[in-house]
Amino acid sequence: MTNPPKTVTLTVHGIGTPDRAMEPGEEDVWVSVRQFEDVLDAVAGRGDVRITFDDANASDLEIGLPHLVKRGLTAQFFLPAGLLGQPGRLDEDGVRELLACGMTLGSHGWAHIDWRALTAGQVPQEMSKASRVLGELAGDAVTEVSVPFGSYDRHVLQRLRDAGATRVYTSDTGRARPDAWLHARTSLRSSIDAGWIDQVLDGEPSLPRRARNLAARTVKRLRG
Ligand SMILES: [Zn+2]
Repeated sequence: MTNPPKTVTLTVHGIGTPDRAMEPGEEDVWVSVRQFEDVLDAVAGRGDVRITFDDANASDLEIGLPHLVKRGLTAQFFLPAGLLGQPGRLDEDGVRELLACGMTLGSHGWAHIDWRALTAGQVPQEMSKASRVLGELAGDAVTEVSVPFGSYDRHVLQRLRDAGATRVYTSDTGRARPDAWLHARTSLRSSIDAGWIDQVLDGEPSLPRRARNLAARTVKRLRG
């Protein structure tokens, strides 16, 4: 018996120049239009690579959508529901436009805060209300989640299971089994180039790097 081929899931945060103040360190995960196009051109036609967007930046709609549509690609947009309509972010009409073009939604929580530091009182809004509000917007249940800042531990995962999340996307890098509940993704970064794209899409990480990734994931599961 052979295992199904593992898939690569890429995460886009922002493209081009943001029209709002950046959070600390955020500029590391914004890419130029050229970098974004190069990634899409490498991904087009590949069934083993999926594209996701986090954070509901206005560039999802203004730059991301037309380039996806041009290549016949679709993507899943993980939105912090409580930030919709804020400066530099998507608003509800923008989300409807994504949906009308065949894109799908996931939840990125409510206020884009670190879920490892949530109080019990914040959990319903972050993990249930956010999905409900987005589901109303989509006209279909939203049950998949991406973890803000990729920051999770076993308590976060348990809360997500309790809230009914059917899949949880992290930022742990590397490939994932197509049916994995906890799903690694790889973020596009401002430093990426053609060599990075080849490595992520087709290369096997070196053994020391695999060992480091595994150790980091184990720590996150056990932490707290
Ligand atoms: Zn985020």
